[in-house]
Amino acid sequence: MAIQPVEMNTACPVNNETSHYGIEVPSIVTESLGPEEREALMARAKRLLREQDAVLVAHYYTDANLQQLAEETGGYISDSLDMARFGHQHPASTLVVAGVRFMGETAKILNPEKRVLVPTMDATCSLDEGCPAEAFIPFCDQHPDRTVVVYANTSAEVKARADWVVTSSIALKLAKYLAEKGEKILWAPDRHLGDWIRQQTGADVLFWKGGCVVHEAFAADELRHLMQQHPEAAVLVHPESPRSIIELADVVGSTTQLIEASQRLDNPTFIVATDNGIFYKMKQGAPDKTFIEAPTHGIGATCQACAHCPWMAMNGLRNLVSTLETGANEIHIDEAVRVRALRATQRMLDFAESLRQPVLGESDI
Ligand code: SF4
Repeated sequence: MAIQPVEMNTACPVNNETSHYGIEVPSIVTESLGPEEREALMARAKRLLREQDAVLVAHYYTDANLQQLAEETGGYISDSLDMARFGHQHPASTLVVAGVRFMGETAKILNPEKRVLVPTMDATCSLDEGCPAEAFIPFCDQHPDRTVVVYANTSAEVKARADWVVTSSIALKLAKYLAEKGEKILWAPDRHLGDWIRQQTGADVLFWKGGCVVHEAFAADELRHLMQQHPEAAVLVHPESPRSIIELADVVGSTTQLIEASQRLDNPTFIVATDNGIFYKMKQGAPDKTFIEAPTHGIGATCQACAHCPWMAMNGLRNLVSTLETGANEIHIDEAVRVRALRATQRMLDFAESLRQPVLGESDI
């Protein structure tokens, strides 16, 4: 079957005006809680986590309340690679994964014996949605000479077709490794990350045309203007952003790598081109520094500050507590699919582990 990737629509996705690669994007609805309700929900969540031998693993892009809850209950906040590693190593019998659905699936792929819950099944991802297995598998079959490398932001079925799973924190190192072995890469689903690793490594990369609804919205002209207003600022960019944004970056890296850069660099100000949920950890690590969202639309546009994932925003204290109380939203994966997806996922973890020894001192891989 010939694949005809859908071209993106450039109208603002987060105002629900249109679709992104043919995917309907919901409006951003963040949970709004008064102080008393917040306190009560935090207390209930802590009790439920304790009673159910559960640990909360939250992504950097989730609500600050969830990140705080994870910190206060022995849970974890990180990028998707480290979330997977932590959940795998933690002894809790239940993992509660606050993020998007593929993160819960990854936890289940690695931990079939554990109960894996997510606050809502509706929290998905434009990369995952834009790379359906029924289109991706025949695309791979058309290119049997290529090593299939898929980003973690994919379904279990897509991972099951892959040779490797990667996250943004390790994509470059794996691409270099494969290029040195002379392997040609089929990369999916983020075309900007694929373009970036091709540029950085010289690898032969054929990529699927998917994109992140958040990172594709950053605007280069507006970013240049902001940089002129803040010459003291360093620009931190996630590689899911378009090339025009990456070219303006002082640092390009995964969420963990960007947080580390915000603490390491001397600049008093940072312009950050990724989801603004990351500011919780950035401000915690460097409270005296100023963090500014990279602009996403024209100068003066009302939604210049809309750098937030509408699916990540679906996670909140209310649905987390409800999930723990009812046992709803448990992740299940067909066992044959899980076993195949595990092979490619475990390869990533083993590769990451092998890099730890020679790169001691690096905070992230
Ligand atoms: S921020 Fe982008 S890549 Fe991350 S979950 Fe949302 S849509 Fe997916």
